[in-house]
Amino acid sequence: MDKVRAFEFHGAAAKRELIDPFGRTISYLRVSVTDRCDFRCVYCMAENMSFLPKAEILTLEELGRLCSAFVARGVRKLRLTGGEPLVRRGIMMLVNSLSRHLHSGELDELTLTTNGSQLEKYSRDLVAAGIRRINVSLDTLDAEKFRAITRWGSLDRVLVGINAAQAAGLDVKINVVALKDVNDDEFPRLIEWAHGRGMDLTLIEVMPLGEVGEGRLGQYLPLSLVRARLCDRYQLNDIDDRTGGPARYVRVAETGGRLGFITPLTHNFCESCNRVRVTCTGTLYMCLGQEDAADLRKPLRASESDDLLYAAIDEAIGRKPKGHDFVIDRRHKRPALARHMSVTGG
Ligand code: SAM
Ligand code: SF4
Repeated sequence: MDKVRAFEFHGAAAKRELIDPFGRTISYLRVSVTDRCDFRCVYCMAENMSFLPKAEILTLEELGRLCSAFVARGVRKLRLTGGEPLVRRGIMMLVNSLSRHLHSGELDELTLTTNGSQLEKYSRDLVAAGIRRINVSLDTLDAEKFRAITRWGSLDRVLVGINAAQAAGLDVKINVVALKDVNDDEFPRLIEWAHGRGMDLTLIEVMPLGEVGEGRLGQYLPLSLVRARLCDRYQLNDIDDRTGGPARYVRVAETGGRLGFITPLTHNFCESCNRVRVTCTGTLYMCLGQEDAADLRKPLRASESDDLLYAAIDEAIGRKPKGHDFVIDRRHKRPALARHMSVTGG
């Protein structure tokens, strides 16, 4: 290929959208920037987790380049997650670098999912970088229960973080993992607290990812049941709002706030799936619920040009499966997938 044609070819590849074999356009990338965390939530990690060696982890520059390649290929929403994204040293360098895509209009949204422990420190910087909304995971408002669920976390610190985020002008959404006999008595209190502060709340069904050292069967609580129970107390009106994620929303008539349900086990949301996930080692997962993955670190490190990277991304998107097949295996009592949520970031 002569130089001019090579340039045109590269330009075309860079602009082409990512469309999978089922016609779904990939416009949403979730990036796990670290597998580390300052909490050890019982459904997410074992207490004695072993983490990845540094050499395997992409540098912040490499993560920036990888994200930017996806933006060049039509991704319009980027979510940073982890592990805990805000414990990655120098994280604001990556956020500030990615915010240029917001200014250029290529990206509609840059956001993150966090456990809230570092929000007091970072909220103002996040707003300055153009972040408007964040998700904060919080499963209980009871300090002792919070400690039992997160093993290492402090509820006070998270609440201070949420205050700081709202004071800085961030729109906060609360994510609650529904855990049988742990926090299921608290949903009304959590909903009223969140809605009273102008925050949406989304309930998430626990997913069978990774060995966490205790029975997951005991944790599983179908949201269909939760919803039925909430209906005894509240009027839940279905609404069409989609935020680009898999949540289905209702408006709670009594509070006026939005309540979301993410139900990977009882409701299949794959048909409208527009997202893929990349880990901090540059592994691309085309589906949260399948093992198939593509290594993007090798093409990223092999050349300064992004051509190899684009080719690897194209090849991987061509293998995006139609849907996942999570099951909580009742006979074998083992996770459907070996990797932890802290690897792919949820
Ligand atoms: N550390 C951040 C946090 O907790 O928000 C970001 C990473 S965390 C893995 C992302 C989300 O996944 C959190 O809302 C967490 O509650 C959820 N999560 C973790 N393990 C899960 C599991 N097994 N099933 C369902 N949700 C899970
Ligand atoms: Fe850490 Fe988030 Fe996993 Fe909890 S859910 S252990 S805060 S990564």
